[in-house]
Amino acid sequence: MLDRKSFQNSSSLFLEEGDTATVVTTQRGKELLNYLVPKGGVPLGGIVNVPIRSKIVLGVVWSNGKSSQTSYKKKKISKVLDLPILKSEVRNFLQKSSEYNLFSLNAALRLCLNPNLNLEKSYYNYFYVFGSEKIEKLTPQRKRVLDILSSKRKEPIGKSELISKSKVSEAVIRGLEKKGYIKKISVPINDSFAAIQATFSTTLSKHQKKVSENLRSKVKSESYSTTLLKGVTGSGKTEVYMDAIAEAILLGRQVLVLFPEISLSTTFVERLQNRFKFGFAEWHSTISKKEKRRILKSVLDGSLKIIFGARSAVFLPFHDLGLVIVDEEHDSSYKQEEGLRYHGRDMAVLKGLYSDAAVILVSATPSLETWVNVLEMKYHGEVLPERFGNATLPKVSLVDLRVNSLERNKWLSKEIIERVSWQIERKQQSLLFLNRRGYTPVLICESCFETLTCKSCDAKLAEHKLFQALLCHLCGARYQLPKFCPSCRNESSYVPIGPGIERIEEEVRSLFPNARIELLSSDHYNSLEDLKECFGRITNGEVDIIIGTQLISKGHNFPFLSFVGVLDVDLALKGGDIRAAENTFQLLRQVIGRAGRFEISGEAYIQTYFPEDPVMKTLCAYDDEIFMTEQKNLRELARVPPFGRMVALIISSSVHGVAMKFAKDLTKEIFSLQKYDVEIYGPADARISKIRKKYRVRILIKAPKMVPIQSLLKNILVKKKLQRTINLIIDVDPINFY
Ligand code: ADP
Ligand code: ZN
Repeated sequence: MLDRKSFQNSSSLFLEEGDTATVVTTQRGKELLNYLVPKGGVPLGGIVNVPIRSKIVLGVVWSNGKSSQTSYKKKKISKVLDLPILKSEVRNFLQKSSEYNLFSLNAALRLCLNPNLNLEKSYYNYFYVFGSEKIEKLTPQRKRVLDILSSKRKEPIGKSELISKSKVSEAVIRGLEKKGYIKKISVPINDSFAAIQATFSTTLSKHQKKVSENLRSKVKSESYSTTLLKGVTGSGKTEVYMDAIAEAILLGRQVLVLFPEISLSTTFVERLQNRFKFGFAEWHSTISKKEKRRILKSVLDGSLKIIFGARSAVFLPFHDLGLVIVDEEHDSSYKQEEGLRYHGRDMAVLKGLYSDAAVILVSATPSLETWVNVLEMKYHGEVLPERFGNATLPKVSLVDLRVNSLERNKWLSKEIIERVSWQIERKQQSLLFLNRRGYTPVLICESCFETLTCKSCDAKLAEHKLFQALLCHLCGARYQLPKFCPSCRNESSYVPIGPGIERIEEEVRSLFPNARIELLSSDHYNSLEDLKECFGRITNGEVDIIIGTQLISKGHNFPFLSFVGVLDVDLALKGGDIRAAENTFQLLRQVIGRAGRFEISGEAYIQTYFPEDPVMKTLCAYDDEIFMTEQKNLRELARVPPFGRMVALIISSSVHGVAMKFAKDLTKEIFSLQKYDVEIYGPADARISKIRKKYRVRILIKAPKMVPIQSLLKNILVKKKLQRTINLIIDVDPINFY
């Protein structure tokens, strides 16, 4: 597949035998290594195997190593793989994303090429055919086999089918093969994807049509742009961006659609099927290795046109990416919080930039970052102001808990209870929202009032009646309820403090003993299939009351759902980080948006002790611009993102003193950046000071926007030697501060 001719005119893109190639490998450690080019040469971007010590490692030819003057004897590239090259746009993206997120180029390449997949390997199907005319006397068994093969078969036949049809053992087949009477042929498994057809929506409203045309023209320009597509839930954002997808397909380019959580895409698959029939694939962590291999190869050669999936798909090596869509762009799960840290949405924009692709960020409640980018005209803005058809936005009211106080150990106000019973009467569904799993988040000992905590983490244990266990929500550890209190050693009983959704269920069951109730949290389904079934029951009207965590907030259309009761968000509202208000607003707007998407108009009640809070007011009045402007002003004043940059360094170790000492030494060095107006906070014990037996110390760095903080930090960090006992996480643009 490496087509030498196409490189002939630009010799600098093709390295000849004996040249030195600088290769980025997928091996941890050294970023760039020099190798001699083998016979036949290799293009820039060529995917190769190279030797590192005694191992063979996957890598990519990154640059011409002409200028490098090394004294050691260079090794040769072991093999140039028969795969399309990694195009310069992909290489540039990887380079930039590694610089931005402060991870190594090797790590970026691992995200892109997935070295465990054995890309080069081909898979075959084996068939048997008639082998020779000259046949001696046959045993009855052998005759049966040959009869099947020679009876003028049109279809090839595989081994197991042949065995079962002729009722012989495998040894008989082997014997025939040895004699040459039958022959085994191998056919490579065709793992390409079918071509797809692109069609445009024919039912768009006038306004939708205008937006669709604008988006399509962005795609048609085959150049970079980013557009915010804002519109309330149900306004047809998906319907409209499907048109943009169709446009990219017509141009022969590829499309990447990102979702914050893959369970969201269940209805999306159906919509893709309806529009494009086939030629798309889903990418996320639980896809099988074999399927991933197939997808990765087809993305690389450009035959697979539409990929949708989780944030990690943004690193895939597209051949010709023409459109990137980030659905629910404000969602915080785009931020990768484990291993290498990056923000899927921001990487998507970067990807678009390097691929000359249009980027569409989709949301009903855009992130402040994106909203400010539209104000500053870095991004375009398109708005779908109303729900499609006759559906209207839910009416939102507050239940002031200071006035309408709750009964002791009860969590549902009179207002919500009455509203739910009316829903049941008129055969409509209610959703009760509480973003807390389990029965209770905290248990305290009746004798000493101490809480039960995790042995490995700085976290209280939540009681989960479903599992008949106590759970640590940080490390997942399970405990049995102790007989003796670990603090006071008394034989103790424990008092639950506050509710989780299981406790709400208890209350709802006692109020509505005949209602059909469905609990929805990540604890309540084991697989995606379970979840789909549950959504199916709700969609079919087999449920009266849904009690759910944020799992319920996204992407699903439930035709009978017309009331949402929000039970408790005050804690989230006072969460203390810079995005607490914004994120609470986004979450609640989304949850409330589940109601009344069909003929019956929706309504929502929010129970709160803070009815004056701007978030509460905005949820009722739908005056989002005022709220966003306020948030913008606050952040501008504090010089925090998007009006300044932040980088968090999280140092962890099983010995607290070791982590703290390293952090202190590091901080001293970072102090040199103060001359650039960089502010340094810490080191300090993290808000959650221990997770999985590791103590955590944080340093927070705040820099003006113009300061290239990443490269300044890199200069300091490359010189630091990390002991084995210390783990350092670099979190650029952190969104969590614990
Ligand atoms: P959003 O992505 O903004 O939540 P959707 O695209 O999912 O909105 O649209 C909401 C519902 O309305 C969907 O069931 C969708 O099929 C329907 N819908 C929206 N616009 C149209 C349209 N122009 N023609 C037909 N159905 C539409
Ligand atoms: Zn724990």
